[in-house]
Amino acid sequence: MNYISTRSENSEKKSAAYVIKQGIAPDGGLYVPESIPVLSQADITALTKMNYIERAAHVLGLFLTDYTKEELIRAASKAYGRHKFPSPPVRLSQVNGDYVLELWHGPTSAFKDMALQIMPHLLALALEKTGEKRDALILVATSGDTGKAALEGYADAERVFIQVFYPSDGVSNIQKRQMATQSGKNVCVTAIKGNFDDAQSGVKAIFGDGEIIEALNQKGLFLSSANSINWGRLAPQIVYYVSAYCELLKQKKIKPGETLNVTVPTGNFGNILACYFAKKMGVPIGKLVCASNKNNILTDFIRTGVYDKRRPFYTTISPSMDILISSNLERLLYLIAGASRCAGYMKSLLEKGYFEVEKDVLEVIQQDFCGCFCDEDGTKETIKRYFENYNYLSDTHTAVGLYCAEEYKKTTGDDGAMLIASTASPYKFSPAVLGALGETVPAEEFEALKKLNAVSGVQIPERLAKLESKKVRFTKIIEKEAMKSEVLAFADAIKK
Ligand SMILES: *Cc1c(COP(=O)(O)O)cnc(C)c1O
Repeated sequence: MNYISTRSENSEKKSAAYVIKQGIAPDGGLYVPESIPVLSQADITALTKMNYIERAAHVLGLFLTDYTKEELIRAASKAYGRHKFPSPPVRLSQVNGDYVLELWHGPTSAFKDMALQIMPHLLALALEKTGEKRDALILVATSGDTGKAALEGYADAERVFIQVFYPSDGVSNIQKRQMATQSGKNVCVTAIKGNFDDAQSGVKAIFGDGEIIEALNQKGLFLSSANSINWGRLAPQIVYYVSAYCELLKQKKIKPGETLNVTVPTGNFGNILACYFAKKMGVPIGKLVCASNKNNILTDFIRTGVYDKRRPFYTTISPSMDILISSNLERLLYLIAGASRCAGYMKSLLEKGYFEVEKDVLEVIQQDFCGCFCDEDGTKETIKRYFENYNYLSDTHTAVGLYCAEEYKKTTGDDGAMLIASTASPYKFSPAVLGALGETVPAEEFEALKKLNAVSGVQIPERLAKLESKKVRFTKIIEKEAMKSEVLAFADAIKK
């Protein structure tokens, strides 16, 4: 299986290992597989008998054809079989007649662990396969969740180093503590004075800085990234949708061939795109409900075909979905409209702040997707109602999904089986969840964590519970102008 760019017709074809190492295509496009492999009904039946690690190796093997079965089994075992990552890593609950796919039982209590636990192993193998002599230095700017999940995934990975920058006043205390206590010989965490945009611009500037790239090259290092524009992050997400269908079959909740609708709380469009791939591979998935918060640019796009980012940006209680440019939408646009139209949309978005797809493209999108959104009051009301009526405690992002799944059923009358992706532990957002339940919120976040536990009786994930007493390793706060020298200093420390 080879990979091509979303932005050029006849772009050069690259291997999976190459695109995982490289991240983004030279024309600014994202890499996509040149065809989508197919799972037959018999394949799905066979997968049903496997455990998560075997399912992951099988599904990934169809996309990463330059990796051997043994390599993929080993990578998946390291990622999903470690004692610290409960096995199976995904839990399926039944709530109010729907199925909730909890993707956050990994080490950082957010669904990003599902991809970031395996991606480092795929990258280490990619370095071997492409004959890369240098080691990778992953640079991450984070507003919270991604940074910790990437640190945890890459900690002590071979031939890979990771440096994370976060805005010192722009992340929650728990997120700060999660990052500052990170273990591993190959990690570095630095706070910067500024906001998330400052951190992000600083990292982007370093990626484009010839001087620093050459200095790193001299030391046998090259820069790489860990965000969801990298195919190595997207592919592992396809696995849990295939696996969830198999699990429901195994538990006889659905019959072979029965259609399953799926709702995904969406930000950058990575998670829901993975589900779309599972559907196109042949898993009997029906509608994909794209659930947005008050930043409902995707809802508007799916309903009208116009994607317009010239609108206010809202800070919400579901911050990981506060996004106006959903990068992975580009991959969907390519798959439906082709490279030349896709490049045109992206150019228009960059230059004019919006684009509009043609009627035929919109119709194809609407066959598979339905756009819904949930505002702040709706999110809070949903958290409270699900807790009171169904004794189910959800985080703020999952609540958006629960609400939109109900909306979809109400407005369309489609009462087929529904799966909702649950993307974070409620304890990652304790103050907002407590507030939604109508409780007073303690000023100190660790107190909020304990109070939510007392109110709900739901167990605190072990690692979050232990965080308060964990030793802080990284305390450095720098000016944003000093990021470049901070990267060089880390490179010196690595290669001394
Ligand atoms: C990242 C994230 C999302 C959004 O996922 P995308 O793949 O960017 O659409 C939703 N919920 C939580 C908790 C997240 O961390």
